[in-house]
Amino acid sequence: MNSFDFDVIIIGSGFGGAVTACRLAENGMKVLVLERGRRWTPETYPRKPEDPWLWNQDEPEQQHGWLDLRTMDTMWVATGCGVGGGSLIYASIFVPANPSAFTQGWPAEITFDTLKPYYDKASAMMSVHELPDNQLTQRHTLMRESAEQLGLGERFRKLPMAVTFNPDWNYNLPDAHSPQHSKTWINPHGKTQGTCVHCGNCDIGCQFHAKNTLDLNYLARAETLGVEIKPLHFVTSLQPHGTGYRIHFDHIISAEKSKIPGSLTAQRVILAAGSIGSTELLLRCRDEHQTLPNLSSILGHNWSSNGDFLTPAFYKDRQVSPTKGPTITCAIDMLDGSADGQSVFVEDGGFPNLFKDFISRRLQQTRHGPWSVFWHDLAKEIPEIENPLENVMPWFGQGIDASDGRLHLERPWYAPWKHVLKLDWNPDHAAPAINALIRLHQKLSTATHGTAWVPPSWTDFKTLVTPHPLGGCSMGDSPQNGVVNHLGEVFGYPNLFVADGAIIPRAIGLNPSCTIAALAERIAENIAQGTHHQPNPS
Ligand SMILES: Cc1cc2nc3c(=O)[nH]c(=O)nc-3n(C[C@H](O)[C@H](O)[C@H](O)COP(=O)(O)OP(=O)(O)OC[C@H]3O[C@@H](n4cnc5c(N)ncnc54)[C@H](O)[C@@H]3O)c2cc1C
Ligand code: SF4
Repeated sequence: MNSFDFDVIIIGSGFGGAVTACRLAENGMKVLVLERGRRWTPETYPRKPEDPWLWNQDEPEQQHGWLDLRTMDTMWVATGCGVGGGSLIYASIFVPANPSAFTQGWPAEITFDTLKPYYDKASAMMSVHELPDNQLTQRHTLMRESAEQLGLGERFRKLPMAVTFNPDWNYNLPDAHSPQHSKTWINPHGKTQGTCVHCGNCDIGCQFHAKNTLDLNYLARAETLGVEIKPLHFVTSLQPHGTGYRIHFDHIISAEKSKIPGSLTAQRVILAAGSIGSTELLLRCRDEHQTLPNLSSILGHNWSSNGDFLTPAFYKDRQVSPTKGPTITCAIDMLDGSADGQSVFVEDGGFPNLFKDFISRRLQQTRHGPWSVFWHDLAKEIPEIENPLENVMPWFGQGIDASDGRLHLERPWYAPWKHVLKLDWNPDHAAPAINALIRLHQKLSTATHGTAWVPPSWTDFKTLVTPHPLGGCSMGDSPQNGVVNHLGEVFGYPNLFVADGAIIPRAIGLNPSCTIAALAERIAENIAQGTHHQPNPS
């Protein structure tokens, strides 16, 4: 019973998975990473409508694309699928949380000061930079101007970005966004990258490898050190096996749209399938398969959408070009509670350049046809001009919401043999933070002669979309208030860890990947040092 296929099996290859894989391999462990998504390259990133855009959690062998979009009643959650996890799809903002984020809801061991060395380590590995002064986007300039108009200039700042810039690039170059201006270079892990040409497609995969994604750093180094990464391996359950665990998975055969079941064992297992993925897997192991029956009753609780919201604003006389340049570059920091008593963080959002024609076409059609409330209301606000999207500022941001969502499994009446993932989430509890963020978006727009448009998805239907799911397997001091301890180890299950966004016990109010990576650095260091706080049962 005590011989294992691997020292460590890691489930998921996003921020938590990539960091732990790399650091444990550096410590000589035999590591396997099981990743449900594909191994993407710039040649295979989805681009055309018929490309594999979506992941289907119920039938992954049928659809195993770029984005997992879960629509749960009043909350839509977007996450990435592939080797590199959310780093493939993210906007590359890699920013530490503010110290105030840790003052409540966390185990006493986790403070900004304890995390600081790990923030530094992760930021160095992701190679973060700020947007160069000679490359400011129109959104960046507009945001700074709006902040100054409202007397918030001191709170405006550039954000750390895991992007490689060429200092010689600027918007005045002839054909500035063309591939010829991206300079090729070899990174410290032997991977070929390019430099940013502000093409605006960060969220659908950087064609130039200018984004410093996990497959180009942490995972590249992990593979050099012997880590095995198995893409298209969808983990379905885990069970105790001696002092370790047996992992069950389906290997997706893409060409045949079929799957082959399999299983492997490891002395230690690290769940890094993200807030939704890790929580769903543990819920299934406790409540459906009953292989881990003693998991904390807190499992699924303390879930948050991190207060994410996007408010488009229209500028009649000003070009904003939201599809040009990196998606996010700067912020106005009101996380000290100074937005009507709420803690929020305003950012400049953007839209993928590739979607420009689709959105513009849809708006033009809407003017002449009976379309959905969303498109109809939106079209009313936008002037009838050649390229309507050019004048839209997508004000984005996050806030510290109530963080009291609860993920759980439910048997639907129409199919009682199934266990479906559901979210209990009360929009009224999130409303103070969301509405404070919206009011700030409105003030910033008015200050620069724009008109903000709050989508009816929120005003009428109280529905949010989040790319930043957090919580579900939250850290705590005991199984009474957490699923894992401050080292990520699952209460009641020695050698089983969670190291991803699921362990963050409350909203941090800004982009979370840097905090997830820092926590994973700390968890990996403690596993490597053999720091165990729970006795082994056998
Ligand atoms: C469009 C978009 C833009 C974003 N921009 C930013 C940004 O600029 N800055 C920022 O900080 N954050 C950003 N985020 C959020 C960021 O991507 C996530 O917070 C981060 O990736 C979460 O890290 P994680 O390790 O928890 O999980 P993930 O990075 O999501 O990794 C989880 C991995 O596990 C895999 N997986 C899930 N279930 C299973 C299973 N059962 N078996 C095997 N594998 C599984 C998934 O495919 C995935 O690869 C963005 C997200 C989106 C969608
Ligand atoms: S703007 Fe384009 S080139 Fe720059 S990081 Fe984003 S996708 Fe890559």
